Amino acid sequence: MQFIAMAEISERAHLAEVAVRLHQNGWVANHDGNVSLRLASGRYLATPTATSKAAVRADNLIVVDDSGARVSGSGKPFSEINLHLTVYRLRADVRAVVHAHPRAATAFAVAGLALDRPFIAEAVVSLGPSIPLVPFALPGAAAAEAIAPFVREHDAVLLGNHGVLTWGADLEQAYLRMELVEHLAAIASLARGLGDIRPLPASALAPLIEARRKAGFVVGAAAPALAQTVVACAPAPLGSNVTVYERPRNAAKHDVTAIIREEIARALAEK
Ligand SMILES: [Zn+2]
Repeated sequence: MQFIAMAEISERAHLAEVAVRLHQNGWVANHDGNVSLRLASGRYLATPTATSKAAVRADNLIVVDDSGARVSGSGKPFSEINLHLTVYRLRADVRAVVHAHPRAATAFAVAGLALDRPFIAEAVVSLGPSIPLVPFALPGAAAAEAIAPFVREHDAVLLGNHGVLTWGADLEQAYLRMELVEHLAAIASLARGLGDIRPLPASALAPLIEARRKAGFVVGAAAPALAQTVVACAPAPLGSNVTVYERPRNAAKHDVTAIIREEIARALAEK
């Protein structure tokens, strides 16, 4: 009989719930989408391939090692596991990765458009000034190689001709980032239909990015990253060198929310 650690019991339930929510939201069809979570053991809990996300349950998840090989579970690993493992390898702070094909954001990815013109203040704090477009690559090693340059400085990417990948410190954060990317893409589509997107004033960006840094959402040293990110409201430069900031270990959630609120108010007042 398979031994499952106590913590893993609730982690399995939460991961299955997130997978089902992807289906309920209409962000996946057929067997699309996948979710994974880094376990305390250093292995990864993941949805099985060839399964509707509506059918994911705590007891049909699989566990893989850092090469993507199955350690336990009866299902097989999904082919996009390399994308997840690349994120985990490059970001020690990340514990969960979510992949889906939500319609509005995937439409941007299919049209070859990044969400790189910041137009909502809160989104700049949560996700940074741009959600880049990773060039299309076939599943496997090529896709993992394509995503690597974007992982350290972003928490969400559009995958060219494919879908969306988001990651976070826990399952909920990775899921909410997927939700936010889709919401932004839907707003951007509507705004483009009404004329065009009016980006946030450039003067608001630096304080918002500083709020993001204070909230622990960005990693790295303040001054150089700030200067680079302001420039990044143009399309995100490939392979640019951005320092990695560590999330403050004692950053309580309510503190983060308060900081964001205060900084957004200040940024908008100063514009
Ligand atoms: Zn996919």
